[in-house]
Amino acid sequence: MDSTDVITIDGPAASGKSTLAKRLALRAGWSFLETGALYRGVAHAAMKAGVLGESREFLGKFAWDLNLALKFGEERNLVFLDGEDATDLLRLPGVAELASELSSIPEVRHSLTHIQRKAGEKGRLVTEGRDQGTAIFPEARLKFFLTADAGVRAERRRTELLAKGIVVSPEEVLRDLVARDEIDRNKSVAPLVEPEDSVRIDSSRLNPDEVLEIMLARARETFGENFANP
Ligand code: C5P
Repeated sequence: MDSTDVITIDGPAASGKSTLAKRLALRAGWSFLETGALYRGVAHAAMKAGVLGESREFLGKFAWDLNLALKFGEERNLVFLDGEDATDLLRLPGVAELASELSSIPEVRHSLTHIQRKAGEKGRLVTEGRDQGTAIFPEARLKFFLTADAGVRAERRRTELLAKGIVVSPEEVLRDLVARDEIDRNKSVAPLVEPEDSVRIDSSRLNPDEVLEIMLARARETFGENFANP
């Protein structure tokens, strides 16, 4: 077991990172990490505590002091704030945009680095986010950059929201997504960039099964046939 037995999946919002990280990890009995949930956790807690207007230093310390814990569930990562399961709250509309803004603050990113690296200490981890292959696990043995056209991603996100009973117009979803992409690509620290040594997959015309097959083939090449046969 090696701490470089890590697969990173980076890419813009709604490109399918979470779904694929989970499915890839399940095939090999590895853990998976959804790092966006950590930023959403800080956003939710900061909103609840009424500290959103505070300084960068304050918010960095706030994130550091937060009683934020991850539990690796079978289906998804559970996020606990002060011992309470806050997972569902973090998916409410508005939290992602706030998370995106807070994630531009270097002090906040720094405070969340440790918890992410710790999850990879024992290896056998598939992790997804915006900076996993660049800033958090630069030594990972396999890196993917998963992307898709903005229109396709917006439609996927809208369908996902509809399934939860949240009705949003296509225009609104697209606008929010493009705004978030813009923030994520232009952060002064750990912006969303394609790692140089990553495998790029454009899923605009692929379904999740097809993307999974491409990823599995690469994972077997890198980690051996046993990857999908634990
Ligand atoms: O992936 P998810 O949509 O849950 O992420 C919410 C926000 O958190 C993203 O828009 C991004 O700004 C931020 N984020 C980040 N770095 C990560 C994961 C998420 O900056 N590794």
